[in-house]
Amino acid sequence: MPDVFADLVGQDDAVDTLRRAAASAAAVLRAAHLPAPSATAVDSDDDLAALAEADEGAADGGTATAVDPGAGMTHAWIFTGPPGSGRSVAARAFAAALQCVHGTGCGTCPGCHTTLAGTHADVRLVAPEGLSIGVGEMRALVLRAASTPSGGRWQVVIIEDADRLTEAAGNALLKAVEEPPPRTVFLLCAPSTHPEDVSVTIRSRCRVVPLRQPSAAAVAEVLAARDGIAPDVAQWAAAAAQGHVGRARRLARDPEARQRRDAVLAVPRRLTGVGTALDAASALIEAAEAEAAASVAESDAAERAALQTALGAGGTGRGAAGATRGSAGQLKDLEKRQKSRATRAQRDALDRALVDLAGFYRDALTSALRAPVAPVHTDTAALAEAGGQKWAPEGALRRLEAVLECRAAIEANVKPRIAVEAMMLSLWRG
Ligand SMILES: [Zn+2]
Repeated sequence: MPDVFADLVGQDDAVDTLRRAAASAAAVLRAAHLPAPSATAVDSDDDLAALAEADEGAADGGTATAVDPGAGMTHAWIFTGPPGSGRSVAARAFAAALQCVHGTGCGTCPGCHTTLAGTHADVRLVAPEGLSIGVGEMRALVLRAASTPSGGRWQVVIIEDADRLTEAAGNALLKAVEEPPPRTVFLLCAPSTHPEDVSVTIRSRCRVVPLRQPSAAAVAEVLAARDGIAPDVAQWAAAAAQGHVGRARRLARDPEARQRRDAVLAVPRRLTGVGTALDAASALIEAAEAEAAASVAESDAAERAALQTALGAGGTGRGAAGATRGSAGQLKDLEKRQKSRATRAQRDALDRALVDLAGFYRDALTSALRAPVAPVHTDTAALAEAGGQKWAPEGALRRLEAVLECRAAIEANVKPRIAVEAMMLSLWRG
């Protein structure tokens, strides 16, 4: 029977750490429910002592458990790794293990099940909808996280993309992490612990769980074993997704995702002049916009309907006029949030396209160098090889750099169309 950690592909060290931490957390809870003498026995446990680094001194003596029912628990964790390595999968799995009634993350009990389904009352997930997570959202979250867990275990707050916190939101979080409520656990996900991603002060309060980029072979194996995808398709998708598990799964299953990728990989052979380069730029931007629009359309409509129901749209009773005045403001807020989410989705879609394109030029470069490494895109390997011969290593490298510079420019807030047009012209000129 697969447990909650089964989806963490190629992350044996991290899974080992998390399993042990979940077991220790369960011991902390058992100790809190026992009379003082037994609690002392648990407090002296080696594993628990190691876990308590961040809370040193808090777990001294049997009476401490009565005062601080979370003593011995590490209250803040950071999951780091490249996109697709499974940061949020790891955070959710650990949250489930913390809420598991067996303390193991069995995957089948109500605690595991509701956490993974996103319906556990004591697990909150902050996913960035806009380009950053604001201070208002963070303050509200910190406040709610301080309440007593309704299920009697832990209040868990998962912050995906903690690198997208605004500075003010980071400070609000820091306060909570510095003096965590006894039963609250914060799980942060970020690309790395570099100060640009996570502030040094927050980092110093957290235990870090580093995740690796899983190998294509490990990704292919999980797609075949868990998702029932044919082994040859799984291998192709795992290589094309460059270690990104979610992307590999989408490529293997979603014909539209495959079509979009095909269109991106057709770009290099279409660049025959300035006109075609600018056309290719337009096509890439518009494809990203269309993909983003499709990905947010459903949730936008559902949110709008839910808000209208909550506001009692069409009501005529006492207070309906006041409600309507207030609701205009709330609808405006919702539209603002949805617009910022759409922008994020567009950037993410464009970035995926650029990563695919970079893979093509990387294949051209390794082929020109006769490097003994497997191509990223097996289906365009012949084309990349022809490019590599024509351009020589220098030309392939210049093109690869043009794609990477485009990604960096967009990340630095250059208007996507301008960055992509510049890239296409560089790719054409070589
Ligand atoms: Zn369970």
